[in-house]
Amino acid sequence: MTKPVVAIVGRPNVGKSTIFNRIVGERVSIVEDIPGVTRDRIYSSAEWLTHEFNIIDTGGIDIGDEPFLEQIRQQAEIAIDEADVIIFIVSGREGVTSADEMVAKILYKSKKPVVLAVNKIDNPEMRDQIYDFYALGFGEPFPISGAHGIGLGDLLDEVAKHFPNKDDEEYDDDVIKFCFIGRPNVGKSSLFNAILGEDRVIVSDVEGTTRDAIDTIYTYDGQTYVMIDTAGMRKKGKVYESTEKYSVLRALRAIERSDVVCVVLNGEEGIREQDKRIAGYAHEAGRAVIIVVNKWDAVEKNEKTMKEFTEKIRDHFQFLSYAPIIFVSAKTKKRLSNLFPLIQTVSESHAMRVQSSILNEVVTDAVAMNPTPTDKGRRLKIYYTTQVAVKPPTFVIFVNDPELLHFSYERFLENRIRDAFEFTGTPIRIIARARK
Ligand code: GDP
Ligand code: GDP
Repeated sequence: MTKPVVAIVGRPNVGKSTIFNRIVGERVSIVEDIPGVTRDRIYSSAEWLTHEFNIIDTGGIDIGDEPFLEQIRQQAEIAIDEADVIIFIVSGREGVTSADEMVAKILYKSKKPVVLAVNKIDNPEMRDQIYDFYALGFGEPFPISGAHGIGLGDLLDEVAKHFPNKDDEEYDDDVIKFCFIGRPNVGKSSLFNAILGEDRVIVSDVEGTTRDAIDTIYTYDGQTYVMIDTAGMRKKGKVYESTEKYSVLRALRAIERSDVVCVVLNGEEGIREQDKRIAGYAHEAGRAVIIVVNKWDAVEKNEKTMKEFTEKIRDHFQFLSYAPIIFVSAKTKKRLSNLFPLIQTVSESHAMRVQSSILNEVVTDAVAMNPTPTDKGRRLKIYYTTQVAVKPPTFVIFVNDPELLHFSYERFLENRIRDAFEFTGTPIRIIARARK
């Protein structure tokens, strides 16, 4: 299910990031364990009562060297383009400023619901400050204090009233949703166009059925695919499209909606730090991953080049050891037709459920081959293994003491399970539980 998206807008210093952090709370991210990959605090999942949603702090998206007012304008436009509901934040300490009025004008033209919050109302005596803000034209302003966490409940109640209907499942289960992510200029939009130009690809007339209408639906060999748009895939010519933070934001959103993520690298340029970061998001989200090396036509090569590039990828993307690698050219279309079968294979792995009896045989055989580790004289005992989820496949192993299941042995079991059932291109999660 696609979660609703909430965006926070407002001029600098009104408290956007303070409120973003309040709403998001402390979320630990496994991405932080991967060197060189840090959490961007401009986009996160969040919860309020029974509602799950994603939230964007548009203030964190800096738009290059644009002047102050232009930055705010662009941020407001991102909110309008990306969000289902907009929280417009102003400051009760300063009253209405001309920058607030400019934001109001932009938001006013959009059809998106806007909830106005007056921040820095740190105590009840200050509540009178909110009346000026009726003039902005968004109805009743909600007094809040990000610093003290006051009023956020009422604000979020109001925001949640505008969420789209929860039951609108987007696509059937057998539809494969995938996306291309990668740095600007690796060739995502060229790949997108090259695929749609393939002979056997039949593009559906139905424009994307989603709220944002950014999906491309097509069939190939009887399988329906949905290609999910990322930044710049269909260039709309907006200034902010080329900014790094915005492309990260779009990549995160696309990953979230996809089953299969194609991480695109530029074969001509090689691997960059930002590639790892982007790939880390896909891994963390538990999606099936394919590494697509594009522009292979432009690489001067001999019989060793592909092997050497593969080794480099394996070295840099150790957390993606399960991801198949494909060398293509959007320009010449070389090997592009191999991509669909690969997407289908990894998508099947990602959704695969295995039989408990065979799973336990595999684990028993693995233990016979490589005995469980001991720690301070105690040996790990494995009683039973069961698959508890798909997308990604997740296994619970019941043991005498989870502490005894060290990382290296967990890795070993993961690899045995992966090999036995051919889980290609999907992460596998293993959870150890103590059997009482
Ligand atoms: P942003 O630029 O809109 O993201 O604003 P920040 O969240 O960075 O906050 C700007 C300043 O306002 C910081 O010094 C915050 O500590 C302060 N601030 C944020 N919320 C409140 C609040 O509710 N009350 C008061 N008094 N100060 C706040
Ligand atoms: P995006 O920003 O990731 O969407 O990248 P684009 O698709 O806009 O491509 C960036 C540039 O790389 C353009 O000039 C493309 O023509 C070029 N390009 C894309 N794919 C290939 C390819 O397979 N081979 C070569 N030689 N150039 C490519």
